[in-house]
Amino acid sequence: MRQGILFVVSAPSGTGKTTLCRAVKERLPNLYFTISYTTRERRANEVDGREYHFVDRARFETMIREEAFAEHANVYGNLYGTAFVELDTNRRAGKDLLIEIDVQGARSLKARFPEAVLIFIYPPSMSVLRERLTGRGTDAEDVIARRLAIAAQELAQMPNYDYLIENRDFETAQNSFAAIITAERVRRPYVLEELPERFPGIL
Ligand code: 5GP
Repeated sequence: MRQGILFVVSAPSGTGKTTLCRAVKERLPNLYFTISYTTRERRANEVDGREYHFVDRARFETMIREEAFAEHANVYGNLYGTAFVELDTNRRAGKDLLIEIDVQGARSLKARFPEAVLIFIYPPSMSVLRERLTGRGTDAEDVIARRLAIAAQELAQMPNYDYLIENRDFETAQNSFAAIITAERVRRPYVLEELPERFPGIL
């Protein structure tokens, strides 16, 4: 069985990344989300162990010391990390993973797993992003201002990504996203790995 593919997905806050990832996961088989650890406060609609593993700083720092993370980063003042064991176990089981992490985390993972596929989702413009952030109504004004400033820094990292998807029209973005995953799955190394037993003596 081939190893699972790591699809690393980043986007500025308010770009619709999570909604897009969920839609693509519904549409394609064998896609799984990794569940990150974070020290951020849980939002009202979130469940521990579903969106994130919510932990305190002391626990997070212990995990860093124990080298439990494949990557971790400080994002908007909170700590976020992807557990190495979760990546490794799923990958070995042949599960393709959607890893929603920030630009720092994406860079770390690409260094550690060069075969990871990096996908960036970007908004049509900064003004559209501002509107979307304000409309969501889940965060305070100062948080939104801070996220907009950070969004600019994140957008500047687009040259490090393999694929860039504009989320102007949801359907179009979703189609591009699904097409990327489908195409990556038929790349020669992954397919060829499984063929020798079906074409013995030939491959
Ligand atoms: P939020 O707090 O809005 O759920 O996420 C804030 C940011 O943290 C997003 O850009 C999200 O992708 C990123 N993030 C979530 N989990 C991780 C993780 O495990 N590692 C890193 N580096 N970033 C993460």
